[in-house]
Amino acid sequence: MILPIAGLGPDGVVYEGEDPREALEWPPSPRDVVRPAGPMRWRLETKLFGTELLVQGRAEALFEGTCCRCGGPLSRVYGDEIALSLPVGPEVTEVDLTSDLREAILLALPNNPVCSDSCRPPRTGPDPAEGAVPEAAGPWAALDTLFGGTSHETPAPPNHARKPRTRKTTRRS
Ligand SMILES: [Zn+2]
Repeated sequence: MILPIAGLGPDGVVYEGEDPREALEWPPSPRDVVRPAGPMRWRLETKLFGTELLVQGRAEALFEGTCCRCGGPLSRVYGDEIALSLPVGPEVTEVDLTSDLREAILLALPNNPVCSDSCRPPRTGPDPAEGAVPEAAGPWAALDTLFGGTSHETPAPPNHARKPRTRKTTRRS
């Protein structure tokens, strides 16, 4: 995004548009969980006070890939708000904001992207949280069988044992 300085003043000027996907400078890798699937979009309000340029707005882009939680397809827009204050000399005619916009988008990418905020991992068995396990047996009954009926931990009462998946993983490692 190349911002022309001419015509800017204390009154805000709004720019809205997009740069091609290549502006994100994303090196394709077979290890990518997600990758850009659309242009870099932005909406920016710009003001110039003397030699100080203020830029406020938002940059975002569509990403596609694989959900880190359920393994299904992922297609989501990631981006963030932008607030910049840049010194511009009288000789400056334009400012390249591309790297600032790219950085805002890439920093907004989560380490483990999921397909939606309500995504849940695929169920591998009865879910104690939904009462599928008889309360009398408790969620630790199967583990006790695996470990010969002894347990190195005191199982919490069934009503309070709501994170059995995490603890199962720990015990198997
Ligand atoms: Zn998912």
